[in-house]
Amino acid sequence: MSTSLSGARRARELAELASGREVDLLVVGLGVTGAGVALDAAARGLRVAALDAHDLGFGTSRWSSKLVHGGLRYLAAGHLGLAYECAAERHILLRRTAPHLVSALPFVLPLTPLVSPARTALSRVGFAAADALRAVAGTPAAALPRARRIGAAEVLRLLPAVRRAGLRGGLVQWDGQLVDDVRLVVALARTAAGRGARILTRCRVEAVDGGTVAVLDTLTGSRHAIRARAVVNATGVWAQHLDPTVRLRPSRGTHLVLRAEALGHPAAALVVPVPGERNRFVFAVPQPDGLVYLGLTDEAADGPVPDVPEPTTAEIRFLLETLNATLGAALTDADVVGAFAGLRPLLASRAGGADGSAGRAVRTADLSRRHLVHTSAAGITTVVGGKLTTYRRMARDAVDAAVAHAGLPAAACRTAWLPLVGAAPASVLARVPAPARLVARYGAEAPAVLALAQGDPELLAPIADGTEVTGAELLWAVRHEGALDVDDLLDRRTRIGLRPADRACALAAARAVFARQEP
Ligand SMILES: Cc1cc2nc3c(=O)[nH]c(=O)nc-3n(C[C@H](O)[C@H](O)[C@H](O)COP(=O)(O)OP(=O)(O)OC[C@H]3O[C@@H](n4cnc5c(N)ncnc54)[C@H](O)[C@@H]3O)c2cc1C
Repeated sequence: MSTSLSGARRARELAELASGREVDLLVVGLGVTGAGVALDAAARGLRVAALDAHDLGFGTSRWSSKLVHGGLRYLAAGHLGLAYECAAERHILLRRTAPHLVSALPFVLPLTPLVSPARTALSRVGFAAADALRAVAGTPAAALPRARRIGAAEVLRLLPAVRRAGLRGGLVQWDGQLVDDVRLVVALARTAAGRGARILTRCRVEAVDGGTVAVLDTLTGSRHAIRARAVVNATGVWAQHLDPTVRLRPSRGTHLVLRAEALGHPAAALVVPVPGERNRFVFAVPQPDGLVYLGLTDEAADGPVPDVPEPTTAEIRFLLETLNATLGAALTDADVVGAFAGLRPLLASRAGGADGSAGRAVRTADLSRRHLVHTSAAGITTVVGGKLTTYRRMARDAVDAAVAHAGLPAAACRTAWLPLVGAAPASVLARVPAPARLVARYGAEAPAVLALAQGDPELLAPIADGTEVTGAELLWAVRHEGALDVDDLLDRRTRIGLRPADRACALAAARAVFARQEP
């Protein structure tokens, strides 16, 4: 079956389900977790539908730091099992399922006067342990080089903006980086579609009653009842709407978007310790297309969950001030071209009192990043918590639970060996006849994106000043990635929307794409 998603396919498949065709498993939510569940279930031979109220990757999954973590932070906190899980999942993404979307990135902790000798020693021990975990997970040093100490000259070569005075060298450690988090979600959804899953955006699940799911098509305003033998709730920070027994304590993480030139075009991520905290850092992580994301914060976000969280002025200030302590020349608000915030779907701790008890206050930074799979008395399996890095295990555990609960005839999980659309071994990707920028986003499909410009070379030019995105990518998103409007194009299939000024310039080109007819 085709992996292409489009408005026409959506309309056809929604009509089939609305007319009474039953599915084995219906997934609510198409963030990384829900898209992962859809793929896992479809790959086991189940009939699957996956619905999102908005779009692929509309929620937290598009606001992440875009890192595929090896679990260093969990090691430092003593959570060995979780750290191993992260390293094992990083290996699978990097080497088997999404080598086109994940690459190795050096992280450098400059040894400035802010980093005491004791902290340096502690960091070295942590990096060595992370290296050991990498090896145990089977990732060769050729793919993710070993951690090591480097001299001041090399620190400055990788991170030209770091303050020279008092620099004693640096520690470098390697981890995984996604080209963009939404591209992973889109690849998961399309791979699931290729195995027959119906991927339906703009479909809000309003209620689940036994085997009947009430759905509002937000494009037309019409309501439908879809029959499903099992339901998985993968709605992240909104999970409580479908299962009020799940207790979450969301925490807001904010990033700033900077132009790479403001930091001298860094070739590594800059790690800055947060003063007065033992295991917290701010990261300035280089991105494709000449940008750097500076993150991140960890603030409790109690109260109603907004569709799109907003960074606060205090968070923006904290990030800039923490970074500036390590730079030769301080950045100012004028260097910030965008900012975004996301809500982590953290599981509430009893001590945090989020369960209604008058417990000890727990900082969200200390709450567990483990995931929860829970089947309610109403028969809804909720999967929540975890990390983008561990989405595959979350999906596996959720499908296992739903299959067991509903008695579905399903094969064993096989996603550890299932390449996503566009995936190919690194040696093959290196020879794909297309610009590296496109290969990093579309992998082996990059030539097909280029081919859309045949007879219309203008489609290969950037669509506006300030961006590298081409018209061919927008057209591809409409024809093959289920983009239904300009917001899908600018805010999710591409990330131009992270820089409001560039978004305004790109709007006309995005509108024009919808005026083109299918060939
Ligand atoms: C600031 C920040 C940085 C992070 N960085 C990293 C990182 O670098 N690496 C990492 O591994 N993890 C990271 N994480 C964690 C990771 O981003 C999340 O764990 C993950 O994205 C959660 O995905 P999800 O699919 O569970 O939820 P979401 O992405 O929020 O998806 C839920 C979906 O459900 C839909 N939905 C809600 N209600 C309904 C309904 N009634 N009907 C239909 N659809 C509905 C929403 O529209 C949404 O698309 C970060 C998190 C944050 C906040």
